[in-house]
Amino acid sequence: MTLHNAATSTDQLVELDKQHFTHPWTVFDVFAEQGALPIASAEGCYITDSHGKRYLDAVGGLWCTNIGLGRSEMADAIAEQCRTMAFANPFVDMTNIPATQLAAKLAGLAPGDLNHVIFTCGGSTAVDSAYRLIQYYQNCRGKPEKKHILSRKNSYHGSTYLSMSIGGKAGDHPPEFDFITDFIHHLSCPNYYRAPAGLSEAEYLQQLLDEMESTILTIGPDRVAAFFAEPILGAGGVIVPPEGYHQASWALCKKYDILYVSDEVVTSFGRLGHWFASWDRFGIKPDIITTAKGLTSGYQPLGACIYSDRIHQVISEPGHGRCFAHGFTYSGHPIACAAALKNIDIIEREQLLQRVQQIGPYFQQQMRTLEDLPIVGQVRGMQLMVCVENVRDKVSKALFPEELDIGKRISDHAEALGLIVRPIVHLNVMSPPLTITKEQVDTIVRTLRQAIERTIVDLQAEGHL
Ligand code: PMP
Repeated sequence: MTLHNAATSTDQLVELDKQHFTHPWTVFDVFAEQGALPIASAEGCYITDSHGKRYLDAVGGLWCTNIGLGRSEMADAIAEQCRTMAFANPFVDMTNIPATQLAAKLAGLAPGDLNHVIFTCGGSTAVDSAYRLIQYYQNCRGKPEKKHILSRKNSYHGSTYLSMSIGGKAGDHPPEFDFITDFIHHLSCPNYYRAPAGLSEAEYLQQLLDEMESTILTIGPDRVAAFFAEPILGAGGVIVPPEGYHQASWALCKKYDILYVSDEVVTSFGRLGHWFASWDRFGIKPDIITTAKGLTSGYQPLGACIYSDRIHQVISEPGHGRCFAHGFTYSGHPIACAAALKNIDIIEREQLLQRVQQIGPYFQQQMRTLEDLPIVGQVRGMQLMVCVENVRDKVSKALFPEELDIGKRISDHAEALGLIVRPIVHLNVMSPPLTITKEQVDTIVRTLRQAIERTIVDLQAEGHL
């Protein structure tokens, strides 16, 4: 063990970070060379590094800083709860005021009869909790065989052993890791841009639904417990399924007594202009919604698994003395819940959902102007979720070789120009705070265009174009 005094300079900090902080998803070789960018402060849609350089953060942290950072009233709410009571045991029969208030608030905001809340530490644990709940529910109703899960290729549901296994991104399933494969089945990703050539969108949709139904029938409807789906596949590249996909897959779930889990970790709390997109945007009433991120706008780690009266009635049926043996020390953490309550209060007071309905279409429309660039295959998304798919050939949609790391090259140029966009292999994704202005949208589009143009020049110089 090496003991270090607090780092005093940015260089020291970067060095200490290299030595001790194992970052999520870092490529070790690149990291050992370049280190991390230390972010020192944040205000609204901007972040500032410890050299004092300011960036427009078009990623909103990690799809999460919905109300924007640096809000004093959030700091006050958090500090006040910290002083009043920083922690209370949530187990069995003890509770705390912010957690109770937040659970009731979420029950009011969530669609249908989703009136019950399991609090978690983030999105992955919300997904894990959903599956534990499903297993328990199916056992309680005498269906112990009903344990299989359907999800989609290219989906992302978290980074615990189970939630990562439910996720279907090929890059997240490298051979060095083991995954649960015996009861998880990945259906095709509903991405019309990558659909077989010659299929109309309606034909493609039918193909997806046929695949879903035949998979259910092959496994056996009595063995399929739940379908996990993000309304828009976020980390998979902001994939908006064909029109009608959600309702039709929900109908299949109802037909075969399969629980529909809508993973709204990204799409809730205003990102698509609604509290929850499942019902308000896509017209489906899931049995379970998982959420996190925008729930506190990133001010505190918190997630929730919100589930239906129907499930609750079964697991809590009187006379059985059942106990749902699940939960965390920090389930319903009072400070995190106080932050979520204040966050919801701000979204309501500043009418941020309505704001997204106005700025979202402008963001989408302006971003699509980038499609005239020779390596931009498609710009897609909805409201404040957007993805630029970069391709080597716009007609064949062929990709650049993965080792060229095209998304990262673009994001590096953007970063140099003062803009943060997230690279995912050949993609760049964005999800700015809900408070983003028209002028800031214009800056994002202008700067990203410049970053892509600079990348094209590099690729030409290196003989890749
Ligand atoms: N579900 C979805 C749809 C997500 O996008 C994420 C995170 N990006 C998660 C779950 C996992 O959330 P967390 O990182 O908070 O555990």
